[in-house]
Amino acid sequence: MMAGLLFARAGCNVRVLEKHADFFRDFRGDTVHPSTMEILSQLGMLQRFLQRPHSELDSAELRIAGRQWAIGDLSHLGTPAPFIAMMPQWDFLDFLRDEAKRFPGFHLQLEAPVTSFIDGQGRVTGVRLGNGEELHSRLTIAADGRTSIVRTILPVEALGAPMDVFWFRIPKSPKEAGGLRGNVARSRLLVMIDRGAYWQCAFLIPKGAAETYRAMGIQAIKGEIAQAAPDVDLEALDRVGDLKLLSVALDRLIRWYSKGLLAIGDAAHAMSPVGGIGINLAIQDAVAAANILAGPLASGENVDPLLHKVEARRLFPTRVIQGAQKAAQDNVIGRLLRPGEAITKAPLIVRLLNRFPILRRIPGRLIGLGVRRERVRSPAAPIRT
Ligand SMILES: Cc1cc2nc3c(=O)[nH]c(=O)nc-3n(C[C@H](O)[C@H](O)[C@H](O)COP(=O)(O)OP(=O)(O)OC[C@H]3O[C@@H](n4cnc5c(N)ncnc54)[C@H](O)[C@@H]3O)c2cc1C
Repeated sequence: MMAGLLFARAGCNVRVLEKHADFFRDFRGDTVHPSTMEILSQLGMLQRFLQRPHSELDSAELRIAGRQWAIGDLSHLGTPAPFIAMMPQWDFLDFLRDEAKRFPGFHLQLEAPVTSFIDGQGRVTGVRLGNGEELHSRLTIAADGRTSIVRTILPVEALGAPMDVFWFRIPKSPKEAGGLRGNVARSRLLVMIDRGAYWQCAFLIPKGAAETYRAMGIQAIKGEIAQAAPDVDLEALDRVGDLKLLSVALDRLIRWYSKGLLAIGDAAHAMSPVGGIGINLAIQDAVAAANILAGPLASGENVDPLLHKVEARRLFPTRVIQGAQKAAQDNVIGRLLRPGEAITKAPLIVRLLNRFPILRRIPGRLIGLGVRRERVRSPAAPIRT
């Protein structure tokens, strides 16, 4: 959506294809980070974005072994919005769509599942939809997530993930403090995202263990969740069917492009939920792609020789962030999920961050701004009035 907005803003004729009828589904994450709001500010859209319902977080905390630990501080970032805006992803996508509609070249087609690429003698020249319709284009950008069809033609390197996630909701009382909560205890992890009237919860389980858990039944699963968060009311959770399985993946395409085709976001590099940074990395990819390609594409140039530059620009930050996610997965989460390893005290790094407020700015900066942040440089054509 962001790439569609930026390319249309530059004067290109864009068609964004979405397989579902709307965006109102349980996406995987609700975090809009300072780096993304910096982009919105550069586009003159930040004030309108902040008028939409959201909550703001400028610190990160973790509950380990019954105690709250401060581990991140974003309040010192020198950016227009030094906090994480918590907004359901469908609301964020609706916002981007509403902004993008102001550009005459922007078209969104819902219920348009792409099933294959059109191959014009070794060059992708468009896509085929589920109903057989063919759409031809000078450039196809695959931003269709971790199960992208681009992966049928471009090879992928798996980096591994030790966990999957059960995703479920429990009611939230208006009196309860909100925000983002991490609960860790007795080899169990529960992350809770405040979505106003309810908590969106992510309960981490070892990779591939979903069927074993389901066979245990809902009462036993609730018992496991309660070990991580004994004070959370799980009354409303009464069926195994209430738990939706999200499979976690961490991988990267070996090459992000071929003639006529570019992959960005999770399609190019599937992100783990660790740090909640996948959405923002995808946005940064879209900005880089538009910076490099939108102007030349709008003026009719062949952009095939430029596609490698997008990968070259974005590979470094992707490697760094995925490397950090992998280190956290292997050294912290994987270890925490191993049966029998009860957590009796917080790891040293957590204790140091909690003790020295200045150190908390480091994870705050990494999570809030990422690595090699992009600035909008793509051209701006006139808007629709
Ligand atoms: C459990 C979990 C929790 C996460 N939590 C967070 C978080 O809190 N914050 C964060 O920043 N990141 C989080 N992430 C990572 C984040 O979800 C992704 O990195 C991010 O959504 C990638 O954005 P994207 O636009 O590239 O892909 P997606 O968000 O996957 O979007 C792809 C879009 O393409 C559509 N689509 C797919 N196939 C087709 C097709 N064939 N034809 C047409 N349309 C198609 C889909 O319907 C979807 O709308 C989490 C990941 C997981 C697994």
